[in-house]
Amino acid sequence: MVSSPSEAPSIVLHGLAGSAGLAYASVHVVDTRRPAVVHRRVQPEQEDEELDRYDLAVASAARGLLEVAERVRSSPARVEASILEAYVLMVKDETLRQRVAALVRDERMGVEWALERAIDAMASALAGAGDSYLAERSHDLRFVGERLQRALSGRPRGAMASLTGEPVIIVAHDLSPAETAGFTRERVAALVTEVGTRTSHTAILARALHIPAVVGVADVLAHVAEGDRILVDGLRGRVVVRPDTELLADAGARAERHEALERGRRAGRGRSPTTRCGRSVALRANLELPSEAREAAEVGAQGVGLYRTEFLYVDRVEAPSEQEQYETYRGVLESFHPHPVTLRTFDLGSDKASPAFGAAPEANPALGVRGVRLALARPELLLAQLRAILRAAVHGTARIMIPMVATLGEVAQVKALVELAAGELRERREPFPEAVPLGVMIEVPSAALLADALAREAEFFSIGTNDLVQYTLGVDRASAALARLGSYWDPAVLRLVRGVVAAAGARRRPLALCGAMASDPLSAVLLVGMGVCDLSMEPSALPHVAEALSRVTLAEAEEVARAIEGATESREVEQILRARLESRLGDLLEG
Ligand code: PEP
Ligand code: MG
Repeated sequence: MVSSPSEAPSIVLHGLAGSAGLAYASVHVVDTRRPAVVHRRVQPEQEDEELDRYDLAVASAARGLLEVAERVRSSPARVEASILEAYVLMVKDETLRQRVAALVRDERMGVEWALERAIDAMASALAGAGDSYLAERSHDLRFVGERLQRALSGRPRGAMASLTGEPVIIVAHDLSPAETAGFTRERVAALVTEVGTRTSHTAILARALHIPAVVGVADVLAHVAEGDRILVDGLRGRVVVRPDTELLADAGARAERHEALERGRRAGRGRSPTTRCGRSVALRANLELPSEAREAAEVGAQGVGLYRTEFLYVDRVEAPSEQEQYETYRGVLESFHPHPVTLRTFDLGSDKASPAFGAAPEANPALGVRGVRLALARPELLLAQLRAILRAAVHGTARIMIPMVATLGEVAQVKALVELAAGELRERREPFPEAVPLGVMIEVPSAALLADALAREAEFFSIGTNDLVQYTLGVDRASAALARLGSYWDPAVLRLVRGVVAAAGARRRPLALCGAMASDPLSAVLLVGMGVCDLSMEPSALPHVAEALSRVTLAEAEEVARAIEGATESREVEQILRARLESRLGDLLEG
C-alpha cells in the first residue's frame, strides 16, 4: 500500500463491509444515473406498435443479459451467472408486461413512460414492505427497468469507461451485477457503492471475485471525485478520503495480515480442523444460494450445516416446483458427498417473505406466522419440498431440519408430513433412502428450555443464535441501534446454550450451532469449550475459525468456558474472552 497522503484532513465514511480486504488507489466514478424517460401520450391506434417496441426491447435486453451471463460463466465469478439468468426472467416477466400494456391502453402513455410507472409501483411496493430482503429485490427490479429503458432507447449500456493502467477503485451510486461480474482484481482494486447491503448481489459478486468492497456508503459521491486517492476498508466497512500517514500504515499492516490469512487459507485447504491438541471439530458452511457451494468446498467445509432453502422461494409468485427443488438440492448434495447437507425446510415469514404464500400482513411478523408455523399452515407446499428433499437424498447425505420450532407438537406434525411425503413417493415408485434424519433448530427459548423433551422427537439439534438472541432478549435482530444489546455473549443466551448441550448429550443427539456466533473466532473457542464441536458459518469465515481453533487446546477452551460461568453481562463475557484469548487470536479478529 503506497502512502502519499495530502495535507487536507481525512474524512471517514461509514458503510457495510461487503467484501473483505483493503485497497488504496485512485477513484473511478461510474455514472449509473437512470436515463431520462420521455413522457409522451399515444393514440389508441398506436397501442400495438408501442407493445411491439416493448417486446423487441425485452428480447434485446434478455439477449444482452444472457451474453454477459455467458461471459461470466467462464470468469472467476462464474458461480453468479445464475443471478443474471434470474434477471432475464424478470425482464421477461409477464406481470410487468401486463401492467405496461394496461397503462398504454388505459392511460395512453408511451411505452417508456408506462414502463417507468409500472417499475416504480412494483419496486415501491417491495421497498415499502418493511423487509430488508424485499427491499433488496426492489433494487433488482429497478435495475431490470433500467436495462429495458436502455433497450427501448437503443442506447448501449456503456456506463463503464474502459479500464486500463493502474487498478482503480470504482465508486458508484449502484452497480449492476452485470457490471460487477465483468471486473477483475487486476483492473479493479475495490468497489464502493452508495446503496446495497451485505446480501446485495454486488457484495455477493465482489466476494466471489475477491475484490474488497464497502456498500451502503450514503453520499460517497458527494465526497469523492474522479482521480482522488481513497482507502477502502472492506474489513471494517469504511472508506477514508485523504487518509493520513498513520491510517495508511495501520491499513497496510492489516492488509498484510489479511493477505497472509488468505494465503494460509489456500495452503490449509483439505486439512481437517482440529484444536492444538488434535480434538477434531466439524466446520461446515451456511448456504443461501446453491452457487455458494463452490466457495464452501474451496475453504474445506465439511458439508453444509444450514442450507437456507427459503431463498428458492423468496421473490417468487409461485413456489418452486418439486422437480426444480429436487434438481437444486441434488446438485448441492452431490457437490458435498459424502459430507452431510442439512436442508432446512423453508423458513419464510418475518424478514423473508414470498409472494407465493400470499400471507396477510401482521403487526409483529417476527412473532407471527413464520418458519414451521407457516409451513404447517401450507402443508401442500411443505409436502412438495419434503418429497423433493427425500428424492434428492438418494444423491448424497441429507438431513432435514425444521426452523423456528417452539413446541413438541410442531415436530410431531412435521414428522407425520415426512411420512406422508414418503408414502406418496412409494406410490409413485420414486426411490428415496429410508432413513433421512429429522432435526430441529433451537432458536426460540421454549425449544431450548424443552430440549430434553425435544431430544426424544428430534434426531439432531442445531442452535440458531441469531433468533435465539432476538427472542431471549427481546431485541430485533435487524436493529442496528440495538446491536450491542442483542449479543450472543449475553449470559442468558449462554445459559440456554449450556442447557441444550446437556440435553443433547444426555440423549446422544448430535448438536451443532449455525448462528453468526459460530463465525466469530473468540466464540468458536468458547463454544468448543462448552461442548459444541460442530459449527456452521458463512464460508468466508471458516478459515479464520479453523485457524483460531488450531491455536488452543481443548483443555484451554474448557477453561475459558468455565471462566465465563459467573458473568452476569455480555460485556463481562467479552472482557474475559479477550483477556484470555486476544494475545493469541488478535490477528484473526478483524483481519
Ligand atoms: C439463526 O436464527 O441463528 C439462524 C441460523 O437462522 P436464520 O439466521 O436463517 O434465521
Ligand atoms: Mg433463525
